[in-house]
Amino acid sequence: MTTAPPRSATLDPETLRGDFPILATRVGDSPLVYLDSAATAQRPQSVIDAEVSFLTSANSAVHRGAHTLAAEATELFEDARAAVAGFVHAAPEQLVWTSGATAGLNLVAYAIGNASLGRGGEAARRFALAAGDELVVTESEHHANLIPWQELAARTGARLRHITVHDDGTIDLEAAAAVIGERTRLVAFPHVSNVLGIVNPVAELVALAKAAGALTVLDACQSAPHLPLDLPALDVDLAVFSGHKMLGPNAIGGFYGRADVLEALPPFLTGGSMITTVTLDEAEYLPPPQRFEAGTQPVSQAIGLAAAVRYLDALGMDAVQAHETLLERRLRDGLRSVPGIRLLGDAPEGIDRVALAAFDVDGVHAHDVGQFLDARGIAVRVGHHCAQPLHRRLGLTASVRASASVYTTVADIDEFLDAVSGVRAYFGAGR
Ligand code: PLP
Repeated sequence: MTTAPPRSATLDPETLRGDFPILATRVGDSPLVYLDSAATAQRPQSVIDAEVSFLTSANSAVHRGAHTLAAEATELFEDARAAVAGFVHAAPEQLVWTSGATAGLNLVAYAIGNASLGRGGEAARRFALAAGDELVVTESEHHANLIPWQELAARTGARLRHITVHDDGTIDLEAAAAVIGERTRLVAFPHVSNVLGIVNPVAELVALAKAAGALTVLDACQSAPHLPLDLPALDVDLAVFSGHKMLGPNAIGGFYGRADVLEALPPFLTGGSMITTVTLDEAEYLPPPQRFEAGTQPVSQAIGLAAAVRYLDALGMDAVQAHETLLERRLRDGLRSVPGIRLLGDAPEGIDRVALAAFDVDGVHAHDVGQFLDARGIAVRVGHHCAQPLHRRLGLTASVRASASVYTTVADIDEFLDAVSGVRAYFGAGR
């Protein structure tokens, strides 16, 4: 099994790349330049090994069975919970496993829907919605943090409102102060936009929500892999993050909650493993986190995700952030200097960002740009990146997105910039 790299103040992606077997892949005649980490990041060997090791030596059902393997699997599973909870500065009981961030956000929306139907008893009444109550999101949501709230509004008669963004993609805090008010029951927003890379003003939004007595839900999918994340310090009530974006496996995500909020929230999925007593008429539920973990859990994925956060921890999230800030500047400065490129969310300097940039090439469709780059071994994301309302706001239907991770080198960014500078000429745009 490969060991995690030693912690150092700076991060050397050239050395790290050896930990990521897929980065040796060639695409046709070209070495792979992987700039699609915001969609799915690559996994170090230690993550792959952790899953394989579990499957080859301890695979078994957790929290059931009296045999040795079951006990070992349960211990590894709960150790993984403690490791991943620790990564976001939470207690293990505050971390619920889900199959991903989408599942976590739906869990909250359906749990609140259940509370609105009177489920969860007295404790859950604080979540119950009625006609006229308001849910607030931003214009820059990933669909995963939008559609569950649309559905919840439709089921309960609540009204869904949104906070607009400025032309430069930053959240309009004056609009936020106008939208969040005494009818607001929930404010859901992204820590980092998956299109713009902008780190949103969590403290300001949480303060507005708290003043209104509203619940806060943070989508931390695009921050957890890139910067130190202390969820209790951010003072949000609930948050989600996604394993496959933070060097971990697919089909695993974290759903974090403040202890008193999780205690009071009724379950969404029900069934095995989340109960104390069941009769033919009713069931009594376990406390969190098990109350929210009905059915067989993604055990090897949880163990893989724990290996991923150990890998990131060993690098040091400060070092990760410093490295990615360098890449982000090079990426954005480089794109700005290419004629005919419009950077989305080109907000003034001084705004914190992760190493991610989406752009439009004048006269060339995003999909053509993607194919042009792919022919040179460069993997980027094209389309609306599951953020149609934001693209609409910016006057586009699609864009090209390049995104980095710990293993991305300056040479990757330069290779990408060099290729992008040839796109318009290749397609005869601007003639
Ligand atoms: N939220 C954001 C900001 C994302 O970027 C993504 C993934 O693209 C999601 C939510 C959905 O995450 P998952 O794939 O874990 O469901």
